[in-house]
Amino acid sequence: MFVLDEVIVYEKVIMTDNKLINQWIRPEIRALSAYHVPDPGNMIKLDAMENPYTWPQAMIEEWQLVLRDTALNRYPDPGSRLLQQEIRSAFNVPDNMDLLLGNGSDEIIQIIAMAVASPDRVILAPEPGFVMYKMIAQFVGMQYVGVPLTPGEFSLDMPAMTAAIEQHQPAVIFLAYPNNPTGNLFDRKQVEEILRLAPGIVVIDEAYAAFADDSFMPDLGKYPNCLVMRTVSKMGLAGLRLGYLAGAPGYLQEFDKIRLPYNINVLTQVSAEFALKNKAVLDEQTELLCQERGNLFNKLAGISGLIAYPSQANFILFKVDDGRANELFETLKAGGVLIKNLANAGGLLQDCLRVTVGKPEENERFIEIVSDF
Ligand code: PMP
Repeated sequence: MFVLDEVIVYEKVIMTDNKLINQWIRPEIRALSAYHVPDPGNMIKLDAMENPYTWPQAMIEEWQLVLRDTALNRYPDPGSRLLQQEIRSAFNVPDNMDLLLGNGSDEIIQIIAMAVASPDRVILAPEPGFVMYKMIAQFVGMQYVGVPLTPGEFSLDMPAMTAAIEQHQPAVIFLAYPNNPTGNLFDRKQVEEILRLAPGIVVIDEAYAAFADDSFMPDLGKYPNCLVMRTVSKMGLAGLRLGYLAGAPGYLQEFDKIRLPYNINVLTQVSAEFALKNKAVLDEQTELLCQERGNLFNKLAGISGLIAYPSQANFILFKVDDGRANELFETLKAGGVLIKNLANAGGLLQDCLRVTVGKPEENERFIEIVSDF
């Protein structure tokens, strides 16, 4: 009897919970699916744009000494001042621009969105693009408008962008430069045109700057609405979760009010400072990855039945003929290689897969399976 009562009470709780959830959790949140990250197990991990290299042993030991001297009982410096200085000099942030640090650039996207959020306002981005722009627009209750890139080249469709900007008057436009998942840099002149046309903020998302030939960092002063966002994730520090935003003090001071005071934890602060003092090691790894990207691209482009798209980032998007992308993805998985399957994303990504540039032996294993397939 006691057990039965408990079951009944429990069922009531569940039923009430669902009712309460439906009543209180916003429908647009209930309609979302959580951001899914597959478990890589022991597979070769070429799915998430990570740098595959670790540090030389001596550098690891030096870093461990830094960690040993780091107190965990105190809150971190809320302004991450030492780390900010290190970032300024490592990445040539113009002196007259402010910096804001985020727990990954994901958090910076969220901070920007929260600062402008209103149900009648729009966040706009070209598509296919980085999925978090849309997701975060939904989190904060804003409208999201995606403007398709041109088929084949993945360039900005300027007539469509101009019309969408005119029609929606977006509060924020995100332009990933280079773009994820397509890997290309948009035409600089077109980006400049968008900076002139936009009524609101334009965030140039330079997550892959380390691998690209161009940047808007030196242009910051030229456009009052331009902000440059970067991350250290792709250059070998993904585990630290650290992104940065550079831009005019007026904007950044407003965003800083929304930033949670201790968003950059003390281990990230000291580790990133240390890593940037040793940036030559990271730069060397980036250089190796750029060379490997060339090799990987040439090999992929040489395989019949595939189209590989040129990349300025640390990954390559490619299209598989005959609707066989899902099959190739699964074959790679069975062979112990995990890449990113975009084949079911629809639109311009139909039949597309994305591979991150790994170590030479990892890329070779990948190419071997793809060639056999
Ligand atoms: N922007 C772009 C274009 C990205 O591809 C990514 C990561 N996939 C991010 C931002 C987020 O990077 P993080 O949060 O690791 O700094």
